[in-house]
Amino acid sequence: MVHRSAREGAQEVRVSASETRVALVTGASRGIGRAIALRLARDGRHVVLASRSEGPLKDLAATITEAGGSASVVALDVGDAEALRAGVEGVIEKHGRLDIVVNNAGITRDNLSLRMTDDEFTEVIRVNLTSAFVTARTAARAMMRNKFGRIVCIGSTSGVVGNAGQANYAAAKAGLAGLCKSLARELGGKGITANVIAPGFIETDMTAALPAEIKDKVVQAMAIKRLGQGEDIAAAVSYVSSDDAGFLTGQVICVDGGLTMA
Ligand code: NDP
Repeated sequence: MVHRSAREGAQEVRVSASETRVALVTGASRGIGRAIALRLARDGRHVVLASRSEGPLKDLAATITEAGGSASVVALDVGDAEALRAGVEGVIEKHGRLDIVVNNAGITRDNLSLRMTDDEFTEVIRVNLTSAFVTARTAARAMMRNKFGRIVCIGSTSGVVGNAGQANYAAAKAGLAGLCKSLARELGGKGITANVIAPGFIETDMTAALPAEIKDKVVQAMAIKRLGQGEDIAAAVSYVSSDDAGFLTGQVICVDGGLTMA
C-alpha cells in the first residue's frame, strides 16, 4: 500500500484561487447563447457577450452585473469575417487574454436540397461554420500564450444524423466536428481543447414556429420525454469549458435527451 504524505493530501483538496477566465459567447442575445452566458457568469467567468443586436446584450450584461457577475458587450455580425476577427482581437487587447470561446451564433435557411439556392447554402456555411474557424484561429494565438484554452462549438444533432430540409445547416454543423477535431490535434499540446456540443431539440426562437404535432413527435422519439432548455446545453458547456475538462478534446457530445444516441 502506498502512503501519501499529509502535504500531498493537502494539495489534492486545496481550493483553487485561479484568476478570472475570460469567455466569449457568440449569439448571446437570446436562446441557448443567453443561457450559456448566464451559466458561465455563474461559474465565475468574465463573459463577453456578442451578437448583432446591442440592446439585448446590454440588458443581459446588466442582469449579470446586478447578480454579482462580470460581463461586457461586443456587437458584431459573425458572418462578416473581418469584423469578427477585429472584434475578437479587441477582446484580447482589452482583457489581455481570452480563455474560452463558445461559437454559438447560428441561423437556419431550411429548404429541400433540390430547391435550395446557392445563397441559402453559402450563407448558412458562412454564419454557422466559417465564423467558428475565424474566432478559433484568432483566439488560439492568445490561448497558446497562456497554455490554456477551451474552444466550444455549438453543433446540432442534424450535423450528426442529417435532417431533411437542412442540407446547408447539417453540412455546417458536421463541419464544426471536423474543425474541432483538427484544432484538437493541432493545439492539444498547448493546453487547448476543442469540442462540439450538439443539441437536440431545444425550446428557443429558432424552434418556436414548428407545429405542435412535430414537437410532440420529437418528444415521443426521445428517451427523456421533454424538449430541451437552454440551461441543459449551458450545463454541458460549463463542464467542457472548465479547467477540469483538460483531458476531453475532439469530441462531439450530443445533448439531446436521448433523441439520437449517435
Ligand atoms: P436563436 O435563433 O434563438 O438565437 C440565435 C443567436 O445567434 C442570437 O443571439 C442571434 O443574435 C445570433 N446570431 C444569428 N446570426 C448572427 C450573426 N450573423 N452574427 C452574430 N450573431 C448572430 O437560436 P438558438 O438559441 O436556438 O440556437 C443557438 C445555437 O444552437 C445555434 O448555433 C443553433 O444552430 C444551435 N442549435 C439549436 C437547436 C435548437 O433546437 N434550438 C438545436 C441544435 C442546435 P442577433 O440576432 O442579435 O444577432
